[in-house]
Amino acid sequence: MISKRSRQIALLLGLFSSLFLLYSVQSVAQTGYPTRAINIVVPFAAGGPTDTVARVIAQAMSKPMGGGQLIVENKAGAGGTIAAEYVAKAAPDGYTLLLHHIGMSTAPALYRTLRYNAVDSFEPIGLIADVPMTLVGKPGLAARDFKEFLAYIKANKATVTYANAGIGSASHLCGMLFMSAIETDVTTVPYKGTGPAMNDLLGGQVDFMCDQTTNTTSQIRSGKIKAYGVTTKTRVPSLKEIPTLEEQGLKGFEVAVWHGLYAPKGTPKAVIDKLVASLQEALKDPTVKTRFNDLGTDPVSSDRATPAALGTYLKAEIAKWTPLIKKAGVYAD
Ligand code: ASP
Repeated sequence: MISKRSRQIALLLGLFSSLFLLYSVQSVAQTGYPTRAINIVVPFAAGGPTDTVARVIAQAMSKPMGGGQLIVENKAGAGGTIAAEYVAKAAPDGYTLLLHHIGMSTAPALYRTLRYNAVDSFEPIGLIADVPMTLVGKPGLAARDFKEFLAYIKANKATVTYANAGIGSASHLCGMLFMSAIETDVTTVPYKGTGPAMNDLLGGQVDFMCDQTTNTTSQIRSGKIKAYGVTTKTRVPSLKEIPTLEEQGLKGFEVAVWHGLYAPKGTPKAVIDKLVASLQEALKDPTVKTRFNDLGTDPVSSDRATPAALGTYLKAEIAKWTPLIKKAGVYAD
């Protein structure tokens, strides 16, 4: 039974939240958003691929946002779900945003309990980039190509280690699909992001990983690590010499890490409109294009950097990954 007192409290809370929303809409119209620094929350450690994309975008969005600061805040842990929950519960005022990746669509199937809803807790702003992944081994691995790499994993499966950024990360998804495709399980080592995982790979503490080109390209080009395949349907223009995994026998193997920008649900439309326009401006910036191209990707076109495009894509990706994850039977609490 709900008491009279709890009904009164609920009524008051409802009134407060409507007033708050009204206040934020009015303040956007009156004072001009933004009037202070904006935080872009990244769900993985600094120095990794999602962080890199966020820093390039944050810098390029500053001018179209009126010259204010966009600060990247790393809130790593639990494969990106800690940051997603944090932003889902942040004030919907345009000062806390989330820059996430494909993990937005895989976490709902991987986690038994999430204290946010990937679709309902956010206002999508727009897509940013589709980033290919690369399967890379630690320095000094004797395997010269994919065939030798497979033989090495199979022969040493009891001791070989695979680095990832936790359940829900792209590196986790790629590793899960890879192990299932080659029917071999190895020990996984979770990190707070593939930035720190790359340091350990370079140091030889872990044997291999699958990570975005935004993190691996320079290490591959400098010859520090060897790439055994790319995860996209076609080869990556900036790393043409690396064959796709599909070409090398893993039929249907495809993972592309898409990045998107989100605000908490209830963020006023005027704020979202400003963010969309600024994101689209940033993606047209020649510096962003050059930087992304160097990292093995491309900024998306303006028609994909929209709330509708991101919202639709997110739902389609949830529908695509959920059955595959359920079939793999991988869960986290
Ligand atoms: N690349 C990572 C992932 O596997 C995350 C990161 O550090 O950006 O999801």
